[in-house]
Amino acid sequence: MWVESSQFDVIVVGGGSAGSAAAARLAADPALSVCLIEAGGRNDDAIVRTPGLLPFMPKRSNWAFDTAPMDSLNGRVGYQPRGRGLGGSSAINGMVYIRGNRWDYDNWAALGCTGWGWDDVLPVFKRQEGNERGGDALHGGDGPLNVADQRAPSPVGIAFVDAAEQLQIPRNDDFNGPRQEGMGLYQVTQKNGQRWSAARAFLDPLAGSGNLTVLTGALVERIVVEQGRATGVAIRRGNKREELRARGGVVLSAGAFGSPQILMLSGIGPAAHLAEHGIALVRDVPAVGADLQDHCDYLVGYELDDPTLFGASLRGMWSMLKGLFEHRRHGTGMLTTNFAESGGFVTIRPDAPAPDIQLHFIRAIIQNHGRDKVRGHGFSLHACVLRPESRGWVRLRSADPAAPPAINPNFLSDERDMALLRDGARLMHRIAETPPLSQLGARERNPVDYHDDAALEARIRAVSDTIYHPVGTCRMGPNSDDVVDPTLALRGVERLWVADASIMPRLVSGNTNAPSIMIGERCADFVRASLQAA
Ligand SMILES: Cc1cc2nc3c(=O)[nH]c(=O)nc-3n(C[C@H](O)[C@H](O)[C@H](O)COP(=O)(O)OP(=O)(O)OC[C@H]3O[C@@H](n4cnc5c(N)ncnc54)[C@H](O)[C@@H]3O)c2cc1C
Repeated sequence: MWVESSQFDVIVVGGGSAGSAAAARLAADPALSVCLIEAGGRNDDAIVRTPGLLPFMPKRSNWAFDTAPMDSLNGRVGYQPRGRGLGGSSAINGMVYIRGNRWDYDNWAALGCTGWGWDDVLPVFKRQEGNERGGDALHGGDGPLNVADQRAPSPVGIAFVDAAEQLQIPRNDDFNGPRQEGMGLYQVTQKNGQRWSAARAFLDPLAGSGNLTVLTGALVERIVVEQGRATGVAIRRGNKREELRARGGVVLSAGAFGSPQILMLSGIGPAAHLAEHGIALVRDVPAVGADLQDHCDYLVGYELDDPTLFGASLRGMWSMLKGLFEHRRHGTGMLTTNFAESGGFVTIRPDAPAPDIQLHFIRAIIQNHGRDKVRGHGFSLHACVLRPESRGWVRLRSADPAAPPAINPNFLSDERDMALLRDGARLMHRIAETPPLSQLGARERNPVDYHDDAALEARIRAVSDTIYHPVGTCRMGPNSDDVVDPTLALRGVERLWVADASIMPRLVSGNTNAPSIMIGERCADFVRASLQAA
């Protein structure tokens, strides 16, 4: 037996952004025994900790899913990196700290998700945040999730912000402040120049505490449901299989792809689809795996021989070595980069309730999600549609729990998304053509005619893909066909909660790490309240 106890009060599945917060907040109650189960490893090596080593992230830390061929993107297969190991995607992400727009949460509440309006979620964001600028009405100053200003941003990324200002796009030094609109440098989830994943923020402080068991390298194959109630999980570690029991219940935090996959493997999902794979039905829930929403991103690379930018060259290798040395000694320098250093939020449609396009500057030329090595130095500009109308899906490829799920984000299948992304791409191009950015002499790779709708659309369909924010596949809502109710409890199966990005009924207008962590913490409150009431 390789787990000391196989009986816990609560089992949390998945040690990512939401799962780390949920497990830690549950374990804050010494009366509860909590087990956190993670398929990947501990993720505590120097590569994970050093922000600028992101391109060298070990394969074991990334599920690296391929999508199905997308008809809407000329049959292209997309890529969906997802963190594997403690911290989950927060251990491999771009560290941008953004909560979204207050409208997003008020909209969730308006959709019937009572208790999820901005005034409800703000205290949780504040409680979690340890902003080095200090706390105020909108920020927390002493929470476990450290939020810092960047230590060594590239002057080119600052020129991007300055150029936008020339076009009357206001400067914004705090995207989580009173106004989201505008351009600026992002704040990042780092501490002392190191990546501050959800695991470092929430789990590390509990190391050695008696009531939290963290089990890594254990793949959860399914949730055990007996007489309509979740009573444990079936796991596999190496060649060994075992069932762990949960007296109080199970929290599923395996992410926007993992959570619907595990539910389906457990017999909870669209009945006909489960029958195709020979899985015994526990409950027919057509919305499991439906409603996938993600930020579709158009990107352009610019070549620029500037040593402050990352690039494959002898000089680039030398800068990396120097940067590594400086980072080790002082926690400063180029390797503190989060790559997505600057950007911001603009409103293209006059009737939009909140900014509808996000722009990013990346301190390297990105091609094929960084998987293709590009010679020379440069940067990338990105534009993404913040509240897409397109909907995709997640399904089972196989009844084998070790097989990757089938994923189709259906990007740009709704024409409204395409029309908006065209306008966002045009604005991004105008910024690149405006001083001081234009004066740096960067050369656009593969230029396109931005005035020609058809040519621009063809280019967008040829190069766009995710900017890594899938949500919605176990959506929360007030109706009987929503997967979870507003207390994140799964409809129709007792003692089972879902807490991660998958529950978002609508994608938020911004990056999704902080919102996922907020969801994890809220779930811990719901579970505790439910256990107390039982
Ligand atoms: C490359 C990249 C860059 C990003 N950049 C940013 C950014 O700059 N800012 C931002 O706000 N957001 C960013 N995001 C998005 C953000 O990190 C995610 O939205 C967020 O981490 C999702 O949290 P989660 O808890 O839903 O899932 P995850 O953090 O992905 O956690 C799911 C966990 O469940 C585990 N798991 C899955 N299946 C099983 C199983 N069967 N058994 C056991 N464990 C399992 C996984 O290994 C993982 O640890 C980025 C994401 C990526 C991938």
